[in-house]
Amino acid sequence: MPVPLPALAQDCLAEHFSVTRLWREADSAAAVAKIAPGLRFIATGVPILTEGMSRPIDAAFMALFPKLEMIANLGVGYDNIDAGAAAARGITVTNTPDVLTDETADTAFGLLLCAVRQLPQADKYLREGKWLKEAFPVTASLRGRTMGIVGLGRIGKAIAKRGEAFGLKIAYHGRSAQEGVAYPYFASLEAMARACDILMIAAPGGPETRNLVDARILDALGPEGVLINIARGTLVDEPALIAALRERRILTAGLDVFAGEPAVPAELAAMAHVVLLPHVGSATGPTRDLMSRLLADNLIAFAKGAPPLTPIG
Ligand code: NAP
Repeated sequence: MPVPLPALAQDCLAEHFSVTRLWREADSAAAVAKIAPGLRFIATGVPILTEGMSRPIDAAFMALFPKLEMIANLGVGYDNIDAGAAAARGITVTNTPDVLTDETADTAFGLLLCAVRQLPQADKYLREGKWLKEAFPVTASLRGRTMGIVGLGRIGKAIAKRGEAFGLKIAYHGRSAQEGVAYPYFASLEAMARACDILMIAAPGGPETRNLVDARILDALGPEGVLINIARGTLVDEPALIAALRERRILTAGLDVFAGEPAVPAELAAMAHVVLLPHVGSATGPTRDLMSRLLADNLIAFAKGAPPLTPIG
């Protein structure tokens, strides 16, 4: 276990395996050297503690372990793992889809409401006693808006459902149009950004989507535009976003994820009109428990010779 995972995941795994908690080792290189010849499984994911956070499972790390058979990831996004390198060596990779879909969609929608209606700012305003002097300024509205979803997968569809309930028009962009989906499809992200005023990012991170949302897309979204990102920070060109927000070329943004998280650009943190969350999309007790059990169940099944429950696609 290279990074700290939730206590339940650690406990479930310790019942079935001999676990090395690498982040606890004073000399991690020596610990790796000791376990490397016999190591069969890696359990990893977005860690619950930020120290020891950056441990990508890349080809060089995998190469240290000649008997490595499986990497189990806590979370649905697995851009922390070089899946191509794993496939080339016949190493199975699993993630924890579905169990976090609704939770993450709830967070996405909460973030959207907060950003458009400036709810955290209104809360701060009240606590600072400013209401006693003057009403909080009126805000933008969700009424009459169109939400373009980048990545209409499990989470994107759950967000779309919530959007429909809130009276939003929905459109989507992905690598191809989906059969049986009635929402308008845009092959061009720029064309969708022009046609909508909320851009909701729910596509995977990794090299293929790096800086997918750049200055051109933000300008297409326009001055009333709202950008929400609950996917991965790498999908957004952060300096371009900061410039667009500073110059009011888009209205506001709600971000749960950042390119260099947990570090957040100071320019963003200093902007009063954006809403920033510390990657809490799926971070509730019940959902983290489901994710922890699914991670462990994948490893336990595989170790017994059964197929893993949720291998990546
Ligand atoms: P999913 O079901 O695999 O959906 C991903 C969607 O992205 C698919 O509809 C896919 O459609 C689209 N996509 C893939 N590559 C694309 C590209 N290059 N350009 C545009 N669209 C692309 O995954 P999910 O379960 O919904 O999760 C989505 C992502 O959310 C995860 O990868 C993860 O990083 C993130 N996430 C974040 C949190 C959080 O705490 N903030 C929690 C959970 C998940 P096509 O195949 O048609 O392109």
